[in-house]
Amino acid sequence: VKRVRSRFRADLTKIRETVVDVPHKNFMMCLNESTLNPFEILSKEIIQKLRNVPFNRYFNSITQELLNLLSHYVGLDKEYIMMGNGADEMLYYTFVSVRENKKDFALSLSPSYFDYKSYSGAVGLKIQYIDLNQDFDFSTHKYLEKSKDPDCKLAIICNPNNPTGNLFPKTKIIEIIENCQQLVLVDETYFEFSGETLLNEIDNYRNLIVVRSFSKAFSAAGLRFGYLLSHPDNIKELKKVKTVFNLNLITQAIGTVILENQGLFQNYILKVIKQREKLFSSLSNMPGLTPFNTKTNFLIFKSRFSKQLYTHLQNCEIAIRAIWTHPVLRDFLRVTVSKPSENKFFYEKTRDFMLQKV
Ligand code: PMP
Repeated sequence: VKRVRSRFRADLTKIRETVVDVPHKNFMMCLNESTLNPFEILSKEIIQKLRNVPFNRYFNSITQELLNLLSHYVGLDKEYIMMGNGADEMLYYTFVSVRENKKDFALSLSPSYFDYKSYSGAVGLKIQYIDLNQDFDFSTHKYLEKSKDPDCKLAIICNPNNPTGNLFPKTKIIEIIENCQQLVLVDETYFEFSGETLLNEIDNYRNLIVVRSFSKAFSAAGLRFGYLLSHPDNIKELKKVKTVFNLNLITQAIGTVILENQGLFQNYILKVIKQREKLFSSLSNMPGLTPFNTKTNFLIFKSRFSKQLYTHLQNCEIAIRAIWTHPVLRDFLRVTVSKPSENKFFYEKTRDFMLQKV
């Protein structure tokens, strides 16, 4: 058979399209989404805002309005901000901006956010990992040793980390930033549930990049809005790889309404944290299952029956996430903290199953 030479980049033949392979059930507790739909609580405000944004135009003052609100929310000048379609796009642009040669790689902890691999692969940037310890902490020494490789072009730390849910000590991240020559990207997608941030260090460290999202605390996963914060000199470089009108006006308009009404979401965050603690304590009392403390909108737990439990819950129309592929997370499952009634349903179905097993 005659082999047809690919007309695409040679390394693309070795990677696959990213597919989010989750079951679609009545109770979606698998993607760390919010259960609050911003349109339901702010429909009047959103419609009003959209009326004033002409979609036949490229430019609109809504962009400055959104930047002003965001600048106020993060406590940094507008020059420190780049906006786009979710934290994912911010990762993508960062990867594009550092990738120079075939051997270049980004350094990440493992297990961490799966799509660091997807998007680095997409732009021809390799990825290497430092494994977390069994307590989900990691060796700064090992991390820094690996970062000394001249092909290491970016260091990534997800804080709090997905899927383990824990927060790394700030001193540890600072040590990494101080000793890494390259850019250090801190992914704070779950920041609002932990309250801890590296943002106040941005003026101290020129190699620090913080990535944030509206998909979790601001309840807008489908809106696709995220942003990146760094020293203005870095923002200038990053914007060189960005498409000019990457962020559509509808997203910008709705993002503005969300920030104008952020009190509603602060309220939601507190509710999620309360629900998380409640679910944690009820799971703690369940025989055959061990939950772990997290600083996010999800919980993780392990059980030697996790595979059967996963199937059982699917049969009950509940989708949670199997995160057991990494050895550190053997037998682990992840569940998104959802509405009180959903958490209760999940708890009861889990308890029914476990009672039969142990
Ligand atoms: N980083 C982490 C750690 C995440 O968990 C997610 C989403 N699950 C993202 C980035 C992507 O977020 P967004 O929806 O803003 O693209």
